[in-house]
Amino acid sequence: MSDMILAVENLHVHYGSIHAVKGISLQVKRGQIVTLIGANGAGKSTTLRAIMNLVRKSSGRVIFDGNDISKLPTHEIVLAGIGLVPEGRRIFPNLTVYENLMMAAYSRTDKEQIVEELQYVFNLFPRLKERVKQLGGTLSGGEQQMLALARGLMSRPKLLMLDEPSLGLAPLLVKEVFEVIQKIREEGVTVLLIEQNALGALKIADYGYVLETGRIVLEDEASKLLVNEGVKKSYLGIA
Ligand code: ATP
Repeated sequence: MSDMILAVENLHVHYGSIHAVKGISLQVKRGQIVTLIGANGAGKSTTLRAIMNLVRKSSGRVIFDGNDISKLPTHEIVLAGIGLVPEGRRIFPNLTVYENLMMAAYSRTDKEQIVEELQYVFNLFPRLKERVKQLGGTLSGGEQQMLALARGLMSRPKLLMLDEPSLGLAPLLVKEVFEVIQKIREEGVTVLLIEQNALGALKIADYGYVLETGRIVLEDEASKLLVNEGVKKSYLGIA
């Protein structure tokens, strides 16, 4: 088994005449937390969406767990073992916590397996267990983010990709989200994390990539990026 779980090779994505991703190559090692940081519009979300085949790649390849998944439809990519928690949570406000989780178990027909998955996510998110019958829309912002993360885990992914999980949360909840991400990794799930909160992301990550206008301009161990002068100035607000 290779220690590389994901490799993106020379990815290009266009939206009409906009060249949003301009030749991105990145690698994610099994068991690590890898983060993509960069300003608004740098192409972070587009990269994740292209990995899932939610947007068309103009060119480039995606290798997951040793297989070329570049041309697979999204649902087969989920079955292969990649989960995506999109930006903005997108939970169903009029469905209960339980129903929200069951929506994510759509690809499972085995009841025992679904029960096991529910136990797995309730173990990680005990607060959701206390609120199984509550409507998603009545949860606090932090709880909704936990529900979105739990939903992403219901397919038991080997790699979980998170798009700005800390966005719009109060500082205390941001801390909690980063702690949960570390817990998810301890459970053996590899994490690819997009964040505008570069400081929080780099603190928990093993490795990081810095994106600027569709290109990777810097990559290194997260501990080294944290002390990099350019990163400190542009992304950490430290002069
Ligand atoms: P953000 O944090 O704001 O989502 P990002 O780094 O994730 O930023 P992307 O959302 O990937 O950036 O956007 C990259 C570029 O592609 C931007 O210039 C954006 O305006 C453009 N873009 C993104 N989605 C679309 C779309 N559906 N149609 C046209 N242009 C798009």
